[in-house]
Amino acid sequence: MGDNLISRRGFLIASAAVVVTACSGSEKAADAPVTATAAAEAEPSTAPPAPATTAAAPPTEPPATEPPPTDPPVTEPGVPEYAGDVDPFMLGVASGDPDAESVVHWTRLVPDGVELPDEVTVMLEVFGDEALTAVVSAQALVTSADVGYSVHALTTGLDPDTWYWYRFSTGEFASAVGRSRTTPAAGSTTTLNLATASCQHYETGFYTAHADIAASGVDLVAWLGDYIYEGATGSVGDEGRVRIHGTAEPTTLDEYRARYAVYKSDPNLQAAHAACPWVVIWDDHEVENNYAGNISQDDIELGERRAAAYRAWWENTPTRVEMPTTADAVIYRGFEWGSLVDISFLDTRQYRTDQACGDITLSTDPPCPETFDTDRTMLGTEQREWLLGRLGKAGATWNVLGQQVIMGNFMLNGAVLNFDQWDGYPVERDALFQHIADEGIANFVVLTGDIHFAGVGNLRTPDRSKVIGTEFVATSISSAGNVSADLTDLVKSLGDVVDAELAHRGWIRHTVTADSWVADYRIVDDVLVENSPMSTYRSFTVTAGTPGITV
Ligand code: FE
Ligand code: CA
Repeated sequence: MGDNLISRRGFLIASAAVVVTACSGSEKAADAPVTATAAAEAEPSTAPPAPATTAAAPPTEPPATEPPPTDPPVTEPGVPEYAGDVDPFMLGVASGDPDAESVVHWTRLVPDGVELPDEVTVMLEVFGDEALTAVVSAQALVTSADVGYSVHALTTGLDPDTWYWYRFSTGEFASAVGRSRTTPAAGSTTTLNLATASCQHYETGFYTAHADIAASGVDLVAWLGDYIYEGATGSVGDEGRVRIHGTAEPTTLDEYRARYAVYKSDPNLQAAHAACPWVVIWDDHEVENNYAGNISQDDIELGERRAAAYRAWWENTPTRVEMPTTADAVIYRGFEWGSLVDISFLDTRQYRTDQACGDITLSTDPPCPETFDTDRTMLGTEQREWLLGRLGKAGATWNVLGQQVIMGNFMLNGAVLNFDQWDGYPVERDALFQHIADEGIANFVVLTGDIHFAGVGNLRTPDRSKVIGTEFVATSISSAGNVSADLTDLVKSLGDVVDAELAHRGWIRHTVTADSWVADYRIVDDVLVENSPMSTYRSFTVTAGTPGITV
């Protein structure tokens, strides 16, 4: 178990279908023997759509010139391309889990009402320029019904700290053009422009915040969970509902696949995916509300349902983790941005002990004794050891966790208000925070989602004597608030909380340099109105070397 779990099994590269051309260099694009040429020259009747984002393109250095490959790549995978006449790329494109020389490119074929054969060949072209003239690589990929017609292509041999453009094609159709990038190489302290976001209930709001992300020019989106919600149509009630899921609560693989297709049909979400790579982790609603380990919210064993949900999540996200084939799936993983930022992305659902005290919320009674059991865990033993083994070891300026539920102290006069958060797992949290203090792990930052309001907190040692880091809690993209905005002043008074904004939906834009971490809290004026104005609620700054919010 380590960083960047890569499994060939997880990638749909047919044995006969190859592959990544080593050629890079724009001057060779014209004569490069590119595998996708056949597909591209089939003259799609549908012109490739314009790039899904109109954000200003980042400056891109042409890829370094290398000798052309001596052998043309193999082009015939033996599996035909799509022969239908309905656009199969309706769910858009995505990329994710970049490192300094590779990235995962993703799409999923879903022709509306058209049967696909069991296997389909899809071409992927990657370009060094926005005009799509400098072909960097081309791959022929085979997808199949077995994986929900998803495509996960690992594109390797790329230059560090470089933007690329990409496009899929099959038969007469080409996908939207996506833009992705590699990370800076080790040693670099290039600025990271990062988005954090979570919680996009389809029924309770429009994805205006995603359009804002797409236009923002960020390098990376860290998705912190609740990509889908499992509720049946209308589970949120008529008030505050702007559109409907259209199906019952999913429990099978096909039902979860259909739910993802509903979400991924949104053009603003597609634009945010097409704009930059994402790192995606899940929270509870990718399976079921507030599940813990294998226990459902109704105390039923999840078993096969969890396996179906995990598999559908993998099929629909551009992740570099092994494809789940059972109810177990390792998704926690590390991410490095040069030597500036090291992020440990966590899974606080799959391995956790069931919530204490019956998972009550907003009780002001003292927590039940079970809360303090020393074997209660949010991470599980293996993930905890993995985390402790890597935290602070990369030598990065910023040591970061990307995770789901509020980690800081959110208590009211000793009462745990939400046992689903880290307050309900205090022994493990205290040990982690004490470890950070004892090891002198500097510039500790926690990136959080889940709770549907925006917050910022200064994290403290268990004895409360010392600030050890900062937690940035992103509000939801569209999911309705859980806590009334009338309680804003109360929330601001809790535990480690420095500030909170409960009334709006949005995301956080982080600008990270060797000197400071600046978090701009972006909010949408009215999530129930399409294209409602976006603005910045507040910006918070952490100065490197000085724990806690300074501005
Ligand atoms: Fe949520
Ligand atoms: Ca959640």
